[in-house]
Amino acid sequence: MIRFCSLGSGSSGNALVVEIGQTRLLVDCGFSVQELERRLARVQLSPEHLSAVLVTHEHADHIGAAGPLSRRYGLTVYTSPGTRIAARDNRFAHVQEIQADSPFEIDDAWVHPYTVPHDSREPTQFAISDGAHRLVLMTDAGHISRHMVEIADQAHALLLECNHDPAMLQAGRYPPSLKRRIAGGYGHLPNHAATELLQRMDRTRLRHVIGMHLSTDNNQEALARAALACGLGCATHETEIATQDEGFGWRTTAAA
Ligand SMILES: [Zn+2]
Ligand SMILES: [Zn+2]
Repeated sequence: MIRFCSLGSGSSGNALVVEIGQTRLLVDCGFSVQELERRLARVQLSPEHLSAVLVTHEHADHIGAAGPLSRRYGLTVYTSPGTRIAARDNRFAHVQEIQADSPFEIDDAWVHPYTVPHDSREPTQFAISDGAHRLVLMTDAGHISRHMVEIADQAHALLLECNHDPAMLQAGRYPPSLKRRIAGGYGHLPNHAATELLQRMDRTRLRHVIGMHLSTDNNQEALARAALACGLGCATHETEIATQDEGFGWRTTAAA
């Protein structure tokens, strides 16, 4: 069984906690150390409870205070060589370089880093398993690759980016260059891409789908929920959305 919660999701900061047995992984640290401590306390944790930090890529909403956190608490940061180079200001206490599609273990957790099309140096997103259940984090991707569908197949929990509604993005206040970046093939997944991913993947084991990394300017929760529900067969399915301020509380991959 995997337990997981989000401490916040969106362009102002991301952090996810994944717990397998006594192993607790922090995936991304897009907050200050003080803010992360405050958000961990909300889920009855402190940094001393963390086993390691995984960083997906060097954008500030993900790498944030991973360096200071690792130095203050002696934590090892797992990240790709490209992210490490791009994050040169963000000195880590200990680093373990990882390669996309070379799974590794951290205590009780099996971690599979995989590539996504995103405009950073060497981004990796993560599938994490306890041997029986599989949680897939899939954000910060400009389009759905075939590899992403394979990674999502048979997930028990899928944390899937629903960044924007294309019409809202185009009508919104962002400058044209930023609009092009977000909507481009190496930007962020629009709601309809989340629908597409759900339609293409093998959903036989899927128990949790949570919409992630919503744009506060260019999306609405109701639109993201509708896109996820459509991907799940347009049923009145209970879909959930992670928020910037709250993330979402503890969930587990165990059967209800
Ligand atoms: Zn991001
Ligand atoms: Zn990013």
